[in-house]
Amino acid sequence: MLNIVLFGPPGAGKGTQSEKLIAAFNLIHLSTGDLLRSEIAQQTTLGVKAKSLMDKGELVPDEVVIGMISSKLSENKQAQGFIFDGFPRTVPQAEALDQLLAEHGTSITCMLALEVDQEELTKRLLLRGKDSGRVDDQNEDIIRNRIKEYNNKTAPLKSFYSSQQKFYPVHGIGGVDDIFKALCAQIKVVYQAH
Ligand code: ADP
Repeated sequence: MLNIVLFGPPGAGKGTQSEKLIAAFNLIHLSTGDLLRSEIAQQTTLGVKAKSLMDKGELVPDEVVIGMISSKLSENKQAQGFIFDGFPRTVPQAEALDQLLAEHGTSITCMLALEVDQEELTKRLLLRGKDSGRVDDQNEDIIRNRIKEYNNKTAPLKSFYSSQQKFYPVHGIGGVDDIFKALCAQIKVVYQAH
């Protein structure tokens, strides 16, 4: 199986690149952000609770997203692989993911980390907010809070995957196709290393 953690700060281009990787490698896309937004749209209890945190740019509790990922893994036992997009976002989430995958007889192949500087991120998110209607993309304070959450809680995952020799950084500024090519080149490196 090819199990990729697509990593990067908010606005790094994870969603865009996920779509291309799914098509190229026949993977299942698991985006906790999308799963949470679908709960919000259906006005479930979980969705209502998550919305108030998401609108402030704060992370939802680990057990909520771990539970969602766990059921998606069980629903997709025949998959050739997964792209984890926006998950894991904390060390406990990464530990839980390793354990869940082990229970399914598989593991993370690599973490591909899109690297984009803060100024470019804010620019991209504000632009996206104009079309997406996402509350969390429309206000600079909320965006800054999301980037702060990323720096405090999520960035440490680079060391988590580095220590497993699974961390592969990719320059995330430039054309969508060029970045996609760089991601594919890293996947090739990973395959050759195995
Ligand atoms: P972005 O990467 O642009 O911030 P996402 O769609 O991945 O967008 O996430 C939107 C929001 O959903 C986050 O700010 C957070 O509140 C919540 N969220 C998504 N994934 C997670 C996660 N793995 N852990 C905690 N909160 C999450």
